[in-house]
Amino acid sequence: MSVTVTIPTPLRNFTGGREAVVLAGETVGEVIDGLLATHGGLKRHLVQDDGRLRNFVNLYLNDTDIRHLDSTDTPVREGDVLTIVPSIAGGRPAVETELPKLSHSEVLRYSRHLLLPEVGVEGQRKLKAARVLTIGAGGLGSPLSLYLAAAGVGTIGIVDFDVVDLTNLQRQIVHGTSTLGHSKLESAKARLTDLNPNLEVESHESRLTSENALDIIREYDIVVDGTDNFPTRYLVNDACVLLDKPNVYGSIFRFEGQASVFYAREGPCYRCLYSEPPPPGLVPSCAEGGVLGVLPGIIGSIQALETIKLILGEGDSLIGRLVLFDALKLRFRELKLRKDPDCPICGENPTIKELIDYEAFCGIGAEPAYQGPEVVVEQLKQELDEKGDSLVLLDVREPHEWEIAHIEGARLVPLGQLPDRLGELDGHAEIVTYCHKGSRSMKALEILRGAGFGKVRSLAGGVDAWAGRIEPGMARY
Ligand SMILES: [Zn+2]
Repeated sequence: MSVTVTIPTPLRNFTGGREAVVLAGETVGEVIDGLLATHGGLKRHLVQDDGRLRNFVNLYLNDTDIRHLDSTDTPVREGDVLTIVPSIAGGRPAVETELPKLSHSEVLRYSRHLLLPEVGVEGQRKLKAARVLTIGAGGLGSPLSLYLAAAGVGTIGIVDFDVVDLTNLQRQIVHGTSTLGHSKLESAKARLTDLNPNLEVESHESRLTSENALDIIREYDIVVDGTDNFPTRYLVNDACVLLDKPNVYGSIFRFEGQASVFYAREGPCYRCLYSEPPPPGLVPSCAEGGVLGVLPGIIGSIQALETIKLILGEGDSLIGRLVLFDALKLRFRELKLRKDPDCPICGENPTIKELIDYEAFCGIGAEPAYQGPEVVVEQLKQELDEKGDSLVLLDVREPHEWEIAHIEGARLVPLGQLPDRLGELDGHAEIVTYCHKGSRSMKALEILRGAGFGKVRSLAGGVDAWAGRIEPGMARY
């Protein structure tokens, strides 16, 4: 019987560049023996010392995996096609010869890696072949992309749609003063390729959505989640589970951080840990609650480390473990994570089989925000000029925010103290509440109205809008 054997690209070096070889034989095993007899260089890649096929090589007779037939004893017929399919590790064939070579300058650049037996030349070539996607070029994305670039990861994709803002630079160290106002992608790309010109940066200038997530993530081996919001975090988790990709997770808030590796094939996913997000507004964001500048450096570096270990296949990964870090106490704790058999996406009977509407899932837009009459800064300025002290301007932020900047003539009652200090306010006065950007002042308005105060309004855009449009000399944060 003559059978056509198709040769995958990485192995064509051993068949003189030929895509297919026609061979005679009665069984799959005989055809393969014939192939190895005529192209000896293939032997090392296809079979083990004992002559059995390597376990990362699959053979298909026409369209059926021979493991579902009689393996190498499967008889062949005239005109059959036998296809060699090497397993794809990280989007690339797991055949050593396919790993990219290192140039002399790369050998020098990575010499401190090459001296480590756990990395060595082969590990460095794996890093060069790797394709890593980082979601976000912010607090976590900065250190992790810098370390991945420096370590020699060949391709880094970045998803971001923001521009570099002055308030970012306290922690987002991939950006600089010279790139203020530039897109974060452009800024990060310039810095990362300056650090390592061998690096390929792939920019995805958009918000990650249910519509584009699968197409973007599919092209990468590993995803590193540097997002700061729940809808994107669940979206990244679900897309990674559906595409069978490891998801290197990190999160930060104030002085605390978390890190893990979610990989449904080998352990739990993010939903096994938190099947549902907290209700909106319960957990403040870093923009509202603040974050210590160096904290994302620590958590982002852990994410970079875990990513590199996954690429190298070395060490014990954080799969199935959650690391908690307390910066003030300088303490790491570790929790064991279990895969939840009832997990809605990676459990035994998954109910989520495609990406959903994550904004709705996280309750965003479902509950009406605090409603109440607002006043714009221009109107407030005019009223203050006309009415003076008869208009009570109530600042409901924290004292440390008041110290940064406040509106002249205002009085400070932090939101948390407001319910207990209502007695200090005149129930008949006209009150305008304000905060940083207009969200806490709405809550204050609701508290005051609930307590019977009739003439309360909230300053739209808060002290930030005031600084932007009325008092340009005022400090902003
Ligand atoms: Zn799960």
